[in-house]
Amino acid sequence: MTIVGVDDTDSRSLGMCTTYLATRLGERIQEAGATIERRLLVRLNPAVKHKTRGNAALALHTDLSADRAFDLAREEIAARSIGEDPRTSPGVVVADVDPDDAGSVDATGEDRGIPSDVVRFAKGALRRRHELSVTHSLLESHDLRHAGFAAEGCDTEGRGRIGALAAVGAFAAFEEWTHEHIAYREFDRCGTPREVDRDSVFEAADSAYSTVWDTVDRGADEAVCVPNAPGPILYGIRGDDPDACRAVAERIDSEPVDRSATFLTNQGTDAHIEPGEIGSLRDGAGYQVDCVVLTEPETRRGGHVFVELASPDLLAQPDSLDPEFVDPDAYDPDDRLLGAAFEPTKRFRDRVRDLRVGDRLTVCGEVSHRDGSDRSSEAPTRTIKLEKFAVRDLVRTERVNPTCPSCGRSMASAGRDQGYRCRDCGTHAPERDRRPIDRDLEIGWYEVPPCARRHVAKPLVRGGFDAPIHPER
Ligand code: ATP
Repeated sequence: MTIVGVDDTDSRSLGMCTTYLATRLGERIQEAGATIERRLLVRLNPAVKHKTRGNAALALHTDLSADRAFDLAREEIAARSIGEDPRTSPGVVVADVDPDDAGSVDATGEDRGIPSDVVRFAKGALRRRHELSVTHSLLESHDLRHAGFAAEGCDTEGRGRIGALAAVGAFAAFEEWTHEHIAYREFDRCGTPREVDRDSVFEAADSAYSTVWDTVDRGADEAVCVPNAPGPILYGIRGDDPDACRAVAERIDSEPVDRSATFLTNQGTDAHIEPGEIGSLRDGAGYQVDCVVLTEPETRRGGHVFVELASPDLLAQPDSLDPEFVDPDAYDPDDRLLGAAFEPTKRFRDRVRDLRVGDRLTVCGEVSHRDGSDRSSEAPTRTIKLEKFAVRDLVRTERVNPTCPSCGRSMASAGRDQGYRCRDCGTHAPERDRRPIDRDLEIGWYEVPPCARRHVAKPLVRGGFDAPIHPER
């Protein structure tokens, strides 16, 4: 079996997109008399800077010989992707291995399956930044065919080999897979407005929800399956079942579909998220973190909402949800995390605004170091871009000054450690009262809406979460 990995072929000037290039390459391979067993669309670390959009890399699994597949891939890249965009740095990697037999070697010591360090590299590509030099050493040590290209003015030749090698290792690196059926436009229409009937998209989406997800955003009234970016994709239908994705695509009325392909993908799987703890989070990686809300949520300029979080282990009274036991000053900036719900996350920000000091949560998202623009050096050193959070426990009462039993007015403090007193009636109460508060949040998981979903983030409706879910659709 041959695995062909390709990446970084987008060219603004040629209107290219790597999924399209892989689709065309797949057709060339079929024309050469071979079969395509799988098309992988692999999302890599969303925090990587050189990505054009969604940091996708592609792999084809085929029975064509590795030499012939390598020739065809180089021809397709040369013909389709070297435009004038100086950021385009295509790469191709070809391995002659069995994708179902990861880590195994034959009697002569040759890799029969995907080498285990390539599998690790693919896993790492979701949560780290790999260097081209490291990629190169791996390619050489396994004697893999590879080629790099560069558009004029590009500072790196063949940076796409990083993603291409990750795509080669992906099938053995990830356990959870979903599907996307992509329909492409007639190529000379690229750059013109897409003609897709909105109502047919919403009806088609309803017909297969929730097997098929993130086709539309009902709250934002947006057909999210239709991209805005220039390029050949007309729409992409994502879901848990490839036939259901294709059936939804069939129901959509649109301009002519030139060609289409169904990909196996790690989209919608949270493959970028691992458990972590505040105080030991790495920049540029995705985490799931248990925490307690430390400050009232704050809406800042631009409509972005921020809330400070801290590890529950450091609470003054670990079993208490009482905000009085949450003391932001007790935490230094490294022990705090700034939860951010940026403006594009739309209605999700209301869920974040509903949080109160003392609420216990599990939050998921990508962590980055505080940028220089953040106001004070007292601010948390790290930010987590919230993708979803689980409410584990809610503060349900607040402390208020006691009410005078005679006049019904609020009592005032009688001095330090002296309780409360009604100035008019002289009545006395030893401590503050507790008053129940209405909470709009419930226990369970909340998420950004489909219009703000990162490709790799898992929609709640897919299930498998450890608490009730409140899915956005
Ligand atoms: P599109 O979504 O339109 O396909 P893209 O967002 O996938 O575009 P690319 O043009 O593929 O962006 O550019 C991503 C670049 O980053 C590639 O060169 C790829 O090799 C590289 N890359 C991907 N993941 C990593 C990583 N973990 N570490 C370092 N480089 C990476």
